Amino acid sequence: MSVLIFIDSSEGHVKKASLEVLTYGAKVAEQLGTTAEGVVLGSVTEDLAALGKYGVKKIHHVNDHALDHLDAQVYTNVIAQVAEASGAGVVIFSNNVDGKAIAPRLSVRLKAGLVSGAVALPDTGNGFVVKKNVFSGKAFANIAVSTPVKIIALSPNGYKIQAGEGTAEVVASTATVPAAKVKVTHVIKASGEVPLTEADVVVSGGRGLKGPENWNLVLDLAKELHAATACSRPVADAHWRPHNEHVGQTGIAIAPNLYIAIGISGAIQHLAGVNRSKVIVVINKDPEAPFFKAADYGIVGDAFEVVPQLTAAIKKLKGVA
Ligand SMILES: Cc1cc2nc3c(=O)[nH]c(=O)nc-3n(C[C@H](O)[C@H](O)[C@H](O)COP(=O)(O)OP(=O)(O)OC[C@H]3O[C@@H](n4cnc5c(N)ncnc54)[C@H](O)[C@@H]3O)c2cc1C
Repeated sequence: MSVLIFIDSSEGHVKKASLEVLTYGAKVAEQLGTTAEGVVLGSVTEDLAALGKYGVKKIHHVNDHALDHLDAQVYTNVIAQVAEASGAGVVIFSNNVDGKAIAPRLSVRLKAGLVSGAVALPDTGNGFVVKKNVFSGKAFANIAVSTPVKIIALSPNGYKIQAGEGTAEVVASTATVPAAKVKVTHVIKASGEVPLTEADVVVSGGRGLKGPENWNLVLDLAKELHAATACSRPVADAHWRPHNEHVGQTGIAIAPNLYIAIGISGAIQHLAGVNRSKVIVVINKDPEAPFFKAADYGIVGDAFEVVPQLTAAIKKLKGVA
């Protein structure tokens, strides 16, 4: 009974979220006294054997161009075949966009209990109990999973990446790839150099910036920090910024290492999408803004004065001004 980890990739590159689930999955395997194996779908340019340093012993590679883009139904079918062939007792995903699309389908297919949004290693002392976030991160629930096969979708930033030594054995999987029922005719890529969900640093703006004409404040700071940009919902609703930048309960959930919120009040629906960030910096002119309660660092001040100074200070630090 092995632990199978879904190694998510995009355009041939393994996603950062996968390194987290690899580290986590290897620990789960260690706890259960078994081995960690990975599954990669589609063509990948990276050295998969090198992923062994995160603790995975074997990687099943289904190297078929038909899997280069996510199709949740096809991915579920192929991962189910690999899980069954490898005798997986636990299957692990990141609870990112891809994981959210595949894990519930796989759960139905394998009749496996699923815990999505896990934030800690399972307690295997008495059964199999997994801690997860509930109520937009306001509380935790401990979920006991009793099905023979168990699925965990780990919250992004839910576990620290740890690299050690070792290489993984990469095996060409014999899983068959079913014909897709839907066809992607074209893809429009979101603007921005760094995808929001993968970004280490995110600079985000709210209604406090008054209008789209002032967004250079956010963009200039983001450029200096090689950051992705985000916004609150009213900003996207007012078409100041595109909807793919809207973070929160009804937008994208992100978990960067650093989240800088400018002119955002910190409503619970906004926090729901950003409170997994490692460090939160809030810039707001109102000292009573609720966001300060969730902040690691806060600057009480007018964004129109503070942000240009911050950008200039970063440029100076980098020696470009
Ligand atoms: C069902 C539901 C789902 C929702 N989902 C989401 C969601 O996913 N994401 C989301 O963001 N919201 C969501 N909302 C909306 C949410 O409740 C808030 O209304 C929204 O987050 C507020 O956006 P804001 O902070 O940009 O604007 P405001 O609440 O208007 O806050 C603006 C802030 O800017 C500050 N400010 C003003 N001028 C300056 C200045 N010159 N310098 C510095 N600071 C300044 C003000 O002090 C204030 O704190 C949802 C609401 C509902 C009901």
